[in-house]
Amino acid sequence: MESYFFCGIRVDKVDFAEIYNSIQADASLYATKQVITLNPEMAYESRTNSALKQAIHDATFVIPDGIGIVAAAKRKGYTLERQPGIELAEYILSKGEKLSFFFYGATPGVAERAIKNLKKRYTFNVVGIENGYAKEEETLEKISKSGADVLLVATGSPKQDLFIYRNKPELGVKLALGIGGSFDVWAGVKKRAPKLMRDLHLEWLWRAGLDPKRWRRLMKAFQFNVTCR
Ligand code: UDP
Repeated sequence: MESYFFCGIRVDKVDFAEIYNSIQADASLYATKQVITLNPEMAYESRTNSALKQAIHDATFVIPDGIGIVAAAKRKGYTLERQPGIELAEYILSKGEKLSFFFYGATPGVAERAIKNLKKRYTFNVVGIENGYAKEEETLEKISKSGADVLLVATGSPKQDLFIYRNKPELGVKLALGIGGSFDVWAGVKKRAPKLMRDLHLEWLWRAGLDPKRWRRLMKAFQFNVTCR
């Protein structure tokens, strides 16, 4: 795996298979590996949020979940492809017959619906579920007692990434990834952008159009792109 450092961030060139294989590797060490799915808003926020910056630099894998990261990398001479966190999670779930998963995030009931829909497509084991508004301390205890191999945290960024980073020694899972609004998508609460928009790298526009609250985030993304030259 190659790591690229530019504009205060780190991004890796790593494929999904390598991340999946890392779950099996050195399992005896039982150290939690953190995956950060980096978008330009997070990159911009990490300039003033030192914990987030530290988490990005200390994560086991940082993948470019945002065309703005791919574009900035290109300007620096690095070739990356966009790797949405939701697609990484589905890749791991699709190979999850022998793995156990903990789903943490979204409003009550959403994770359950997401799992129901995912189980129509993939075979995997669920050993714990918690909504994203439950008390963190209790959730942490549930996760560490669950014996899960993989923890999916969908509480939005940077909350999800800082939760994983802060609690890495206690989680007791092999791999933990922050995947934003993925449970909402799997549950059918939110839709991903149509394929054509995704192919044109306009998923961000689709999401902002559906949710005006995201416009502020979009400003951060623009600021990252304007300043990362
Ligand atoms: N969420 C949560 N706990 C919180 C705040 C948010 O579980 O304290 C959930 C929210 O219900 C939604 C997800 O986090 O399901 C955030 O989705 P969004 O699309 O904003 O995430 P992004 O991918 O943009 O980080």
